[in-house]
Amino acid sequence: MRIILLGVPGAGKGTQAAIISQRLGIPALSTGNILRAAIAAETPLGLQVKDILARGDLVSDDVILPLIKERAEEPDCAPGYILDGVPRTLAQAEGLDALGFGIDACLFFDVPDEAVISRLSGRRTCRGCDKAFHVTGNPPKTADVCDYCDSELYTRPDDELETVQKRLRVFREQTAPLIDYYTERGKLKVVPSGGPVDQVTALVFEALGIS
Ligand code: AMP
Repeated sequence: MRIILLGVPGAGKGTQAAIISQRLGIPALSTGNILRAAIAAETPLGLQVKDILARGDLVSDDVILPLIKERAEEPDCAPGYILDGVPRTLAQAEGLDALGFGIDACLFFDVPDEAVISRLSGRRTCRGCDKAFHVTGNPPKTADVCDYCDSELYTRPDDELETVQKRLRVFREQTAPLIDYYTERGKLKVVPSGGPVDQVTALVFEALGIS
């Protein structure tokens, strides 16, 4: 199964990607995680994109498409994959189609802006494995320590309020047209995702027709 997760930052894509990945046994491919790893390792790609991520802008399609193509060609992707945070522009969606990505479903995580602002201001992300927690909604067992790999949790610089507002604007301008794109192709499934994690997970599997 090849699934796209679409939604504003903080809509719950990363959290649900990890759950779907475990349940279906297919990897979650996150361009955001790939870019943050490159920044942490100070690779040429990381240096190229660091300021773009910090500002809340999008990295160019010419960088993203080869990156996701290369990752999707790895052997663990043979049974399928979950695309978390890609495509984010019409050009990326068309690029994926041209590369033969053959998407089965696009889940649109529908959540009001006010809810994501409160989610992101409390989000803590693991420096080691990129898993996301929330100080009240989904707290780690030990404060500021990842439950999965014991690394430190931190607030992503792009989760600061001003940058979040910018990212919401970028979503509306550049990513929202993908809702129509996948609707027209009969692939879009809307997942109301303002509720707690378990409730959203149930709606995700209902949308995918998996009980
Ligand atoms: P995310 O973790 O998905 O919220 O992504 C964090 C940041 O990485 C975004 O705000 C963009 O700067 C960049 N990014 C991630 N995925 C993409 C993409 N598909 N296209 C362009 N920029 C991206």
